[in-house]
Amino acid sequence: MTVESPKEQYTFQAEISRLLHLLSESLYQNKEITIRELVSNASDACDKLRHVSLTDSSIDASDLQITIEPNAEDKVLTIRDNGIGMTHDELMKNLGTIAHSGSLEFLQNLKESDNKEDVSLIGQFGVGFYSSFMLSERVEVRTRSFTEDNGWVWESTGDGMFTITEPEAALPRGTEIRLHLKKGLEEYTEETRLKHILKKYSTFVPHPIKLGEKHVNNQTPIWVEPKSTVTDEQYEAFYEYLTTFPGQKPLWHLHLTADSPFQFHSILYCPDANFEKMGFGRMEQGLHLCARRILVQNDNKDLLPDYLRFLRGIVDSEDLPLNVSREALQDNTIFNKMKKVITKKVLDYLDSFATDDPLTYKKFYDEFGAVLREGVNEDWDNKDRVAKLLRFKSTDKSAENGFVSLAGYCERASEDQKQIYFATGTDETSIMRDPNLEIFRERKLEVLLLTDPVDEYILSNLRSFEDRDLVSIDSGDLKLPGQKDDDESEEKAEDKKEDADVPTSFDTVLTAIKEALGDQVADVRRSERLTESACCLVNDKGAQSTTMQKVLQLQMPDFAMSKMILEINPKATLITRLCELSVNPDNAEFIKTCGQQLYANAMISAGLAPNPQETSNRVQDFMLQLAQQRSSIAT
Ligand code: ADP
Repeated sequence: MTVESPKEQYTFQAEISRLLHLLSESLYQNKEITIRELVSNASDACDKLRHVSLTDSSIDASDLQITIEPNAEDKVLTIRDNGIGMTHDELMKNLGTIAHSGSLEFLQNLKESDNKEDVSLIGQFGVGFYSSFMLSERVEVRTRSFTEDNGWVWESTGDGMFTITEPEAALPRGTEIRLHLKKGLEEYTEETRLKHILKKYSTFVPHPIKLGEKHVNNQTPIWVEPKSTVTDEQYEAFYEYLTTFPGQKPLWHLHLTADSPFQFHSILYCPDANFEKMGFGRMEQGLHLCARRILVQNDNKDLLPDYLRFLRGIVDSEDLPLNVSREALQDNTIFNKMKKVITKKVLDYLDSFATDDPLTYKKFYDEFGAVLREGVNEDWDNKDRVAKLLRFKSTDKSAENGFVSLAGYCERASEDQKQIYFATGTDETSIMRDPNLEIFRERKLEVLLLTDPVDEYILSNLRSFEDRDLVSIDSGDLKLPGQKDDDESEEKAEDKKEDADVPTSFDTVLTAIKEALGDQVADVRRSERLTESACCLVNDKGAQSTTMQKVLQLQMPDFAMSKMILEINPKATLITRLCELSVNPDNAEFIKTCGQQLYANAMISAGLAPNPQETSNRVQDFMLQLAQQRSSIAT
C-alpha cells in the first residue's frame, strides 16, 4: 500500500495568471522559443552548480549536462539537467511569481502592438519558464536541490493554480521539466525537428546537450578560432545565441585577440537598434566572461566602459584561473587592464569603420551616438579618440554628406581660423535665423549646428580639438580669422581704424542705450558680427551659451542666467538713423525707448522672453505715434 504524499495547492501571483492567459491567447508566436528558454535555464542551473562546487569540494560538478528526451507515445517532451535544482521555497518563488516588475506590461504592449514575433523576447524579461504553457497542456517540474535529499514535484495546467508534492522516491540532483504537449504539437517529439531547433538556438550553450545518445552542440567555440576561418553565418548564429534575438543581425562585430598584458579572445557585437532609445531604460547587461572557454560570469560589467555598454559579446581568457572566485571577480584590477585594451581597440575600430563604411557608421551613430559621446566626459584617457567619432550637422551642407566630424571641419577650415564654431538651438530652422550667424554666412565660415543641448555640454567639456578651441557663436570669446588677439592696445588700435566709417554720434547712441538698460545687461557695445540685423545678444567671456543656460535653468529653478552683452550694428539702417537723430538732445528719450525695444527684440531672437507687459506697451506707443502721423484724408 502506498501512502499518498500531501498535495499542497497554491495560486499563482495574479500577474502570472495574466501572463499565462496572454501567452495562450497569442496564436502566432514562435513556439520553438520555449525549448530555447528551457535549455537556457538548464544551462544556467549547471553554471550555478559549478560555482558552488568551487568552494565546496563535496560537490561533483564534473559531468554537468542537459538531456532532451522526446516520448512520442505519451506526447511528452522532457528537458533535464543535473544542475543546482530548486528547494521548496525556490519553487514557490521562482515558479510562482514574476521577479521583474514591468515584464507583464511589456508583453501586454507587445500583444496590443500586433508584433507577435517579438514574444520571442520573452526570455529577456525573466519569464521564460512560463512559455512552457504555449506548448503544453500540463507541465511537471521534478527537481532536487543540491542541498536536499528527496526533492519536489511541481505541477500545473496553467489555469491559475499549481501544486507541490513530494516525489515517490528520491529524485536525482537537478531539474527535469516534463512538457505534456498540447494536441497538434506532436512535432516537438520528432527527433529531426528537435535537432534543428537545438542547433539553431543552442549551439553555443557551454554544457553538452544530449538528444538521446547524440551530442548536438559539440562545436568548438568560434571566439578562439582565427578570424579568417569563421564565416558570417557563424558570427550571426553566435550573436543570436548571446542575445536571444532570433533572426536579428548585429550592425557590426569585432573579433579581438590580445596577448599582453593579458591574454584573451573576444567577440563583440553592436546590436542594430538601441534599446535605451526605445524606452527600455538603461542597458544593464554586460559581457560573458569565460576562463579557458568555461563561462564564469554571465554579465560582467567591468570589461567595458559605461559609454560602450550597448555592446554584447564574450571575453575568454587563458590567464584567468578556472576556479576564479567571487572575490577575484570583484577585484577588478585584472578587468581594468582588459578593459583598457578592449576600449582602445573598439574606438580604433570605429574610427576606421567610419571611414570605410560611412553609411553604416551613420546608422550606428544615429542609434548609439548619444551613448558613445558620454565617453568625452567619462574617459579622460580616450576623450580625443571619442571626440574623433562625434558627428554633427553643419552649415556646410555639401561636407561629409551632412554628417560632419571635427577632424573634417578642421581640414576645411583655413589656417588662421583658430576656433571651431558651433550654434545651438532647439531645431535647425530656428538656429539658421539667429542673427549671430550673419557674419559667418558673409565670411563663409562653417558652423556646427547643435540641436541637442547634451552635444553642447560635451563640446564645452572637450574644450578644444586639434588645437582649435570650440566656441559657441554667441560667445564673448569668439575670434574670427584675421581678428587680432586679446591684447588690449591692439584691440583699441583696430577699433580706431574701423571707426573711420562709423559716425562719432554712434557713441552717443550707445551711451543712451546703456543708460536706458542699466544693469539688465553686462554691456552695450558695437557689433563686429552683425551684417544686416540691428542688434543681437552675446554672452560674456567664459559664460556658457544661452541654450545651455536655458537647460540649466529648467533643471535648477534658482539658476540665474548670466548677464548678456547687447551688440549694436552701426551699419543697420535703423541705427544710422538713430545716430542722425542723436545730434538733437530732444531725441534722447526716443533713442532710449528704441534701445529698450532693441533689447527686447534681441532677447526674442535668442529664444528668451522679455517682459511681456513693457514690450507690448512700448510697441503700442510706437504704433500710436505712427498712427497719429498719418492723415485720415484719402488721396
Ligand atoms: P529567468 O530564467 O529569466 O530568471 P524563468 O521564468 O525562465 O526566468 O525562470 C525563473 C527562475 O526559475 C530562474 O531564475 C531560476 O532561478 C529558476 N529555474 C528555472 N529553470 C531552472 C532549472 N532548470 N534549474 C534550476 N532553477 C531553475
